[in-house]
Amino acid sequence: MIYKKSREELGAMRRGGIILADTLNVLEEALRPGVTTGELDALAEGWITGHGGIPSFKGYRGFPASICSSPNDVIVHGIPGPLVLEEGDIVSLDVGVLYEGFHVDSAWTFPVGTVEDRALQLLKVTEASLEAAIAQCHPGKRLGDVGHAVEAVAISGGFSIVREYVGHGVGRHLHEDPQIPNYGSPGRRERLTQGMTLAIEPMVNAGGSATKALADGWTVVTADGSLSAHFEHTVAITEAGHEVLTARAPAAASSRLQRLAGAAQAGTHG
Ligand code: MG
Ligand code: MG
Repeated sequence: MIYKKSREELGAMRRGGIILADTLNVLEEALRPGVTTGELDALAEGWITGHGGIPSFKGYRGFPASICSSPNDVIVHGIPGPLVLEEGDIVSLDVGVLYEGFHVDSAWTFPVGTVEDRALQLLKVTEASLEAAIAQCHPGKRLGDVGHAVEAVAISGGFSIVREYVGHGVGRHLHEDPQIPNYGSPGRRERLTQGMTLAIEPMVNAGGSATKALADGWTVVTADGSLSAHFEHTVAITEAGHEVLTARAPAAASSRLQRLAGAAQAGTHG
């Protein structure tokens, strides 16, 4: 069952999306060699709760932290803690915010200091695969078009797609129908219609696509130890196309209220 959101419900998700986007901006500013993933988690939790939100992930099926932090060969669901990030690492930070009764979900993979060209290329291609998927988000297109767009960009970039973990609808629940694989055939699966809100999240590996779950019950790594990147946005399907509810504006905290006021007037893109 796919739950479509009303204009009012989209307003709540838009406001939550601004808090989430700002959280990622705050994390990016704090990210440097020597910081621990636990420190980033505390920072995110403080920012989210300080703006009236609730971290979606904390306590979700027993998850012990407010964000997922997934360095290097960790694909998704890494648990923040004493791990010190070092120059040359990459780290995926995945954040969920519950605000006014609705969840939004977004992730970004950052370089820590200067990283190798291959790692930088992986980040660029994974972000581009998300952009290509979002470009498919119009009423009348299908989920197969979205998945195919991700896969095409990742494969042509020389990388592989994770198949065991998928994107999802998002709203009153963190995970709603439909499932959104990062592969697919154009013109197949569910048709996109106005009011759908989708968490689209390419997970792209530098090596093979195989994954392995660690004994902590959460952390998922690449089976071959290769680097992995993860970019995610919550996207609403609108009458005219789509709106990226978790879009990251360059300026962070100071302009938040301005953007909130601007966003209330609603702009659709694409
Ligand atoms: Mg996420
Ligand atoms: Mg998600």
